[in-house]
Amino acid sequence: MKRIYNFSAGPAVLPEAVLKQAAEEMLDYKGSGMSVMEMSHRSKTYQTIIDEAEADLRTLLHIPANYKVLFLQGGGTTQFAMVPMNLMKNKVADYIITGHWAKKAYDEAKMYGQANIIASSEDKVFSYIPDLTNLKITPEADYVYMCENNTIFGTKYKTYPDTHGKVLVNDASSCFLSEPLDVTKFGLIFAGAQKNVGPAGVTIVIIREDLLAIPPLPGTPTLLKYKIHAENGSMYNTPPCYGIYICGLVFKWLLAHGGLEAMKAYNEKKAGLIYDYIDHSKLFKGTVEKGSRSLMNVCFRTGDEALDKAFIAEAKVAGFDNLSGHRSTGGMRASVYNAMPIEGVEALVEFMKKFESAHKV
Ligand SMILES: *Cc1c(COP(=O)(O)O)cnc(C)c1O
Repeated sequence: MKRIYNFSAGPAVLPEAVLKQAAEEMLDYKGSGMSVMEMSHRSKTYQTIIDEAEADLRTLLHIPANYKVLFLQGGGTTQFAMVPMNLMKNKVADYIITGHWAKKAYDEAKMYGQANIIASSEDKVFSYIPDLTNLKITPEADYVYMCENNTIFGTKYKTYPDTHGKVLVNDASSCFLSEPLDVTKFGLIFAGAQKNVGPAGVTIVIIREDLLAIPPLPGTPTLLKYKIHAENGSMYNTPPCYGIYICGLVFKWLLAHGGLEAMKAYNEKKAGLIYDYIDHSKLFKGTVEKGSRSLMNVCFRTGDEALDKAFIAEAKVAGFDNLSGHRSTGGMRASVYNAMPIEGVEALVEFMKKFESAHKV
């Protein structure tokens, strides 16, 4: 068996210790004689799994008691609809457009009401986070929407917008649990698990309790109402049981490794190795303004498409997979989520150096 360094943007690398534990527990979970995959979600054993997952997540993020934690399905994309369906009581919302996913969320919201773009970085191919001072918040807006880490373009917010008291909604999919997050700044945070937390199929929602009192728009399907999931402990119907179990193992792994402060330091060190190198490289260039750089998705290019392709192909042979940028941007993207070991990043930088000296400009 040989594991490679997997720089995929998602589904993405998971901690090896977690995968090993899941393998050990695959046929017989803690003496139950069955796999978690085969277990009733109404069993006591499974209830303990989901309760511990929630408790550990609350510990990691210091989630206050007036926030509910939901384990849902449908990915980030379903949240693009659930957010307006459940929060748009005046049918008005403000969107900050920082990339592909924020734009998709905005397009979806337009189906339910008036969605306003109050800031955008589209003018420079989403290579920065727009100025957040003096945003023109619409007086009737039900919420302000942001996407904290832009997986495709490699940017991340360093501060949060002042919403003048409006509810702030955060798509945190690709930076969730990569560093501490002040939950109290947000009315709702959501994250698809497959970026930094677990397998595809689980979407985590953290929602402030008072927002559950807003009546969803008429016609909202039962399964798309946050309140229904909150009242039923994420078990109104069968939850993504096995995925939640893996997320739970990842939460325990994070706690055992010092929690989110330690993770942040580790992630800064890892991403820093690549950024420092490309800042001094004559061949590779970062594509993002320095003040907006993501710790999770590091985007760079040579400026020559054929050379980018050669780099990606040679890297793959050398054991570094999934380094191509998104199909809409081209170039390279190294996703260095929590579970990417620093050894993988050091080896990648060494490989980049070798490639650079072989292609001296
Ligand atoms: C991947 C991603 C999404 C979409 O997630 P799906 O689970 O595929 O629906 C949304 N937002 C961000 C920031 C993402 O990285």
